[in-house]
Amino acid sequence: MGTLTLKKLDGSSLKLERTTTDSALGGQILYPDSEGYAAASTVWNAMIERRPGVIARVATEDDVVRAVAFARSNGLRLAVKGGGHNIAGSALVDGGLVVDFERMKRVTVDPKARTARVEPGATLADVDRATQEHGLLVPTGVNSTTGIAGLTLGGGFGWTTRKFGLTIDNLRSVRLVTADARALHVDRNQHSELFWAIRGGGGNFGVVTEFVFDLHPAGPEVFAGLVVHPFADFVNVVKSYERALANAPDELTCWAVLRKAPPLPFLPTEWHGREVVVLAMCYIGPLANAEAATGPLRAIGRPIADVVGPAPFAGWQQALDPLLTPGARNYWKSHDVASFNDASLEIIRQAINELPTEECEVFFGHVGGALTRVASDATAWPNRAAHFAVNVHTRWRDARDDQRCVAWARRIYDRLAPHAMGSLYVNFIPEGDEARVTDAYGANYERLVSIKRRFDPDNLFRANQNIA
Ligand SMILES: Cc1cc2nc3c(=O)[nH]c(=O)nc-3n(C[C@H](O)[C@H](O)[C@H](O)COP(=O)(O)OP(=O)(O)OC[C@H]3O[C@@H](n4cnc5c(N)ncnc54)[C@H](O)[C@@H]3O)c2cc1C
Repeated sequence: MGTLTLKKLDGSSLKLERTTTDSALGGQILYPDSEGYAAASTVWNAMIERRPGVIARVATEDDVVRAVAFARSNGLRLAVKGGGHNIAGSALVDGGLVVDFERMKRVTVDPKARTARVEPGATLADVDRATQEHGLLVPTGVNSTTGIAGLTLGGGFGWTTRKFGLTIDNLRSVRLVTADARALHVDRNQHSELFWAIRGGGGNFGVVTEFVFDLHPAGPEVFAGLVVHPFADFVNVVKSYERALANAPDELTCWAVLRKAPPLPFLPTEWHGREVVVLAMCYIGPLANAEAATGPLRAIGRPIADVVGPAPFAGWQQALDPLLTPGARNYWKSHDVASFNDASLEIIRQAINELPTEECEVFFGHVGGALTRVASDATAWPNRAAHFAVNVHTRWRDARDDQRCVAWARRIYDRLAPHAMGSLYVNFIPEGDEARVTDAYGANYERLVSIKRRFDPDNLFRANQNIA
């Protein structure tokens, strides 16, 4: 019972009786004093502290239609929460209405048709579990607790992108609730402009209530693991790594992670806490070819440890989870980089020698292969050239370290800029860097703007990397 004050898009406040929201919205309704509100208003990045006015934990498409209609008719601030992993915390909005998909996580696999119907609250782990049961997969990202919804709408890449393309390249259709509260089937033939836009354009065009993906046979066993080198060998290791990748088959993906070694059981204890280069690789071709395919990468230098071998794919998808648990403070700065030159390697070498905390890292996400064989204007995702998504990931626990940690990331990012491609992955843009959204979309930006004008002229869907 009681009244409720909600924030409107124009910044003003709206007072309502709770009975009004209770009858207008569907699903479970959470207010700041409800049990479960604290968990529902928490996201992966502990830097983000926002207090939504009301959270609708939707259970059906109709609940989503009702929420969008209510937000629109009252001019309310609106956010949409999938897995809550977005670094900028766009799943939450202060004082507004949050549509939360926590109760919609179902994944239904049709092994004959090789498709999966996925509800937007599912995590990558939910998707892997259901699809790998049939020896099938959809290419996604490398941290299994990430939400499928935000990852897909931004593009989505990980261990199997080079073989099967981005997550969006495997999207067959969606159900989408648009700003005028219509629920549409959207695919290549129906509402094709919207289908183009949502494949990379994020949550700008509506609320997805279901994704349908094409699946590919791979796993359940793949060949994967880590090779760890002393950081003193960084420059030689990266140069050899780039050479090895130039001839790598699409089935092989290898990310490089530069950080202080966590206390991994296979590392000699004297290496714990010291700077290392970790080559994290996954080969999804026939196991009989795995030693030959990974050989050039594993022959580099004199590693401290090599723990690469057969592994269940769904398990490998969770291998990095312990380093990426929710609850820490995180800040990212990211560049697409075509290749590394002496100057960029020196910038990164210095940065790793000045890591502000034990948990900070720089990683090179390896993309190319199938992703490059799709035209750059076929979806909203523009940078289809083979490249590395270089992410400076600063991670810490104490708010008193905010300035120092953020400054470290910004410093490397600024120094790397002249050696980068000018583009970046939209899903890696942190809070405060909205100006970089145009760089994320490059030549596709203007088309996104015109579709946004048509389908969301009032910018109801603005809690995202906004196409204003
Ligand atoms: C630890 C970690 C590892 C990551 N690794 C990878 C990786 O390997 N590859 C990769 O590609 N990305 C990766 N990412 C980035 C990830 O893709 C984005 O953070 C993405 O936004 C997460 O989606 P989510 O649903 O969890 O996020 P949320 O924060 O819940 O949502 C993010 C935004 O997506 C939109 N959205 C969510 N659900 C819907 C919906 N149903 N309808 C419409 N819009 C919606 C909204 O605009 C929302 O603000 C990683 C992120 C983290 C934190």
